[in-house]
Amino acid sequence: MTKVIFITGGVMSGLGKGTVAASIAKILQFRGFAVSMVKCDPYLNVDAGTMNPVEHGENFVCEEIWEFNPARDFKFRIAEVDQDFGTYERFTGQCVHPSHNITSGQIYLSVILKERTGEFLGKTVQIIPHVTDEIKSRLKDILKEGKDFIIVEIGGTVGDIEGMPFLEAVRQLRIELGKENSVLIHVTYVPYLSTIQQLKTKPTQHSLRKLLESGLIPDIIIARSEVELNEDARQKIALFSGLSKESIISAPNLSIIYEIPLAFERQNLGDLLLKKLMLKPKRDPMPGISEWKKLVNMFRSANVEIKIALVGKYTKIVDSYISIIEALKHAGAHNSLKVTPVFVDAERVDEKKLMTFDGILLTPGFGVRAAEGMIQSAKIALEKNIPFLGICFGAQLATVAFARYIMKWEGANSTEIDPNTPYPVVDLLPGQRNVELMGGTMRLGAIKVRIIKNTILYKAYEKELIKERFRHRYHIIKKFADKMTTRGYKVNAYDTDGNIVGFEVEGHPYFVGVQWHPEFKSRPFSPSPVYLSFIGAIKRYRLNFRV
Ligand code: GLN
Repeated sequence: MTKVIFITGGVMSGLGKGTVAASIAKILQFRGFAVSMVKCDPYLNVDAGTMNPVEHGENFVCEEIWEFNPARDFKFRIAEVDQDFGTYERFTGQCVHPSHNITSGQIYLSVILKERTGEFLGKTVQIIPHVTDEIKSRLKDILKEGKDFIIVEIGGTVGDIEGMPFLEAVRQLRIELGKENSVLIHVTYVPYLSTIQQLKTKPTQHSLRKLLESGLIPDIIIARSEVELNEDARQKIALFSGLSKESIISAPNLSIIYEIPLAFERQNLGDLLLKKLMLKPKRDPMPGISEWKKLVNMFRSANVEIKIALVGKYTKIVDSYISIIEALKHAGAHNSLKVTPVFVDAERVDEKKLMTFDGILLTPGFGVRAAEGMIQSAKIALEKNIPFLGICFGAQLATVAFARYIMKWEGANSTEIDPNTPYPVVDLLPGQRNVELMGGTMRLGAIKVRIIKNTILYKAYEKELIKERFRHRYHIIKKFADKMTTRGYKVNAYDTDGNIVGFEVEGHPYFVGVQWHPEFKSRPFSPSPVYLSFIGAIKRYRLNFRV
């Protein structure tokens, strides 16, 4: 029988519940269990794809596309999910299916469409039982996949109006599953007040009370705090929650997030979970733990710093490019380098400042705002020989920079930015032009890519056929690319339809653009080949040059 670990959050959002969930998955993997991750998001968007990254962090793209079928005759293709899925994949090394991101939007859409198509046969449609049943049925479908464990993270904070149906569904499901088959972990915040040098447990008390109001009693409390929980705080939380001291786990800020599973191991969280669920480890001894320790040590000992400019427009919050940042760090650590990513607002690009960076990464994105600054950044990288990586929109705008400043095609652009450009070097393909179909024409999920031999990219991947994840609508246009080859623009990758999906610039230390998002497949233990080659180039060209 599949065991379920439910994770709720208290006090406030942004505590790193996703990282906690992923770390718990990791310690179960150490013990030989097959684990699957689920995230319930209380927002009303059907999927994360329609949310601005500045509001809700990055849109993570899954390997597969899910055909969401909320009611008879209705179908939606979903591949964009909450950013926590990136964390899940990086920790567990497994791809997560988009149907594992259950949003209120999906749930209400299903219930309302079912009502419209007559499935409730005269009943009054209500939050309980119809919405809660829909949530439970989605979770039960996932249980049927037959893993040893599913970890279900409930997004938001207890007490939020939107989250209530999810908490009620969890309450009911826990009863149905039986006592020994589920565990509820409450992740809460214990602030450290530096003025009085004390950890304060009062917010945790309040959030526990909120949880109890929903009929949920936690089995374990994970306390997020700036510092390690001391005995006093642990004792207090144990007292008012009625749990043993061993069930109060400290999760202090750590500079290397991959250390969190080890911090949990030190507090015996893995054994505690198994005890509560009456299980024995499937693997003992656990070689995974020492391998993971080695990995964390590799990150810790990477101490030669390099600074990379992330030029884009979603620079207000770190989370909007989290997979890119992690991919850079992975590739850095495997090269003994500590990568410091620095956000550069594309609306305020300063040439002198940009030249102080060891590398420039032009970020993915959409729309007109800040595009000019991004094009200028690519121009600076091109002209000043700064190692450069363009991802998706970044690759498209780097192509525009090449067209304008190397080919001297004045006004060259992407039609996403200037529909009337005389040189539409990036454009929609014929057949994509019907605006009404916009949502439907976005290419999502992983597809096959053919890499051309004797290119930087081929050196990076060491194979001709790869599979990478995409999220775009516009394309680099062959007619123009062919002309640009005369000046060193070299196509290095095609999709299976023969469209250009990657290029590099000959004669430049490192100037590569890819239409896909290699960051989504980068793992701490196996970095993305593209990021590895970018960081490798920086190591060769910039560091040698510096010393
Ligand atoms: N806006 C561009 C497109 O739709 C790039 C998208 C992206 O960077 N993910 O093609």
